Amino acid sequence: MSVEAKTLDPDDWEDMRRLAHRIVDDAIDYTRDVRDRPVWQEMPDDVRRAFAAPLPRRGRAPSEVYETLKTGMMPYPLGNIHPRFWMWYMGASNFTGALGDFLAAILGSNLGGGNHSAALIDRQVVDWMKEIVGYPAGASGTLVSGGSVANLIGLTVARNVKSPGDARADGICGDGGRLRFYGSDQLHSCHQIALESLGLGRAGLRKLPARDDGTLDPGLLAEAVSHDRSHGLRPACVIATAGTVNAGAIDDLRAIGAFCRDEGLWFHVDGCIGGLLALSPRHRSLVDGMSEADSIAIDPHKWLHAPFEVGCALVRDRAAHRATFEKTPEYLQQKDRGIAASEWLHDYGVQTSRGFRALKVWMALQEHGADTFGALIDQDITHATYLADRVEAVSDLELVAKRVISIVCFRFNPGDLGEDALRTLNTEILLRMQEDGVAAVSDTVINGRFCLRAAINNHRTRKLDIDILVDAVLTHGRALVDELSNGQEVSGSPSDASAS
Ligand SMILES: *Cc1c(COP(=O)(O)O)cnc(C)c1O
Repeated sequence: MSVEAKTLDPDDWEDMRRLAHRIVDDAIDYTRDVRDRPVWQEMPDDVRRAFAAPLPRRGRAPSEVYETLKTGMMPYPLGNIHPRFWMWYMGASNFTGALGDFLAAILGSNLGGGNHSAALIDRQVVDWMKEIVGYPAGASGTLVSGGSVANLIGLTVARNVKSPGDARADGICGDGGRLRFYGSDQLHSCHQIALESLGLGRAGLRKLPARDDGTLDPGLLAEAVSHDRSHGLRPACVIATAGTVNAGAIDDLRAIGAFCRDEGLWFHVDGCIGGLLALSPRHRSLVDGMSEADSIAIDPHKWLHAPFEVGCALVRDRAAHRATFEKTPEYLQQKDRGIAASEWLHDYGVQTSRGFRALKVWMALQEHGADTFGALIDQDITHATYLADRVEAVSDLELVAKRVISIVCFRFNPGDLGEDALRTLNTEILLRMQEDGVAAVSDTVINGRFCLRAAINNHRTRKLDIDILVDAVLTHGRALVDELSNGQEVSGSPSDASAS
């Protein structure tokens, strides 16, 4: 009696071919026509319920699986591939990159290391990232899930290098616990998580009040370092930000780098937003001094528009980088020949198995060339400048922070409302624009003032999209002022329960 061996391969490859072709055809239409759809739409209850079904014990035809996704998933995205998505700070993806993710999965390679083509592409992309930021050939780097982990990698190397003892052997008990890292209060939240994960706690991260323009204050930094030294602490690292999340402010990288050299501190640059400005013909001088950093975090899923996820940690001192993460156990010994005849890529980070993230970046860079990405960065900044100009030209709109790169902080302000009312009003404008599917912006608080925040990092945005945003803010803002003056309740929160 013969028993068919089981496999995950399809019973009928021709059926699978037809389905795969259909998926690609649909994907092309979906991407091409993104502008005709709402930025975002709320999911109906039956869609939500469908995704709460229990584990399927038995399979069904892949074409049926795809139909479920076509109706239940594809119409309800986060929205960031849409030309009018400017929420938080993320890239808009790209079709070639999506094909890259597909091919990477077809190859199925694990990029923990090994002697194979995908590992060469992974290394090459890291080399290109080094070239973009102006790092020397001897520097090292690793592709990770995103900027948060890229920063964690850099800060871990900083901790180990600056640790008074052997941090890998003994942890940071005793004197190691006195290490102090510095940045402005505009640091991305991932740094606090990093310091907590590194065992240094929130006390290990000194967040200094930023100057009015959102940048790290060199005077306060010098004072804090000297104060900490005189109190027996161990100043270790300054985290400069090239492009803060709130307003896109760029710290004075040259001055901070010089200070770090004089003081013997590790100089880390969080370039998740602005590091890639190094590609921009018109704005690269904004990140002068970045290449002097000991470590840099950049985020190709932002200004390189790679499909999520891919971040990149770069470290100037390769030996220090490797010494922090090198872990090759007896079952992963490098060989002279064969599949294991290669340095382990996992010796530069916390993961062992690693995905083939490099391919989507590699393909898009090959297709368009790095200069195109530089020009797209300039285009985003041009659109942001246009938005800021329009805001300043309309009396009901107010610019809340100086625009530096492509982040515009502004609000609807008819002039006679207090801070609380402005918060309610602008929150409601933001939610109505989302629920209409017209545009997605986020909100933040700058120097105590609540505002809308358009982070324009989107290769599909056109000037007319900025006009649509300005019109929508004004239309909703003015309608809301009327509602308020007629005594209507404006909730500032979605589907207020008291209204039902
Ligand atoms: C986005 C961002 C991060 C975090 O990056 P992820 O890719 O979201 O993990 C860190 N710092 C800054 C300045 C960022 O903009």
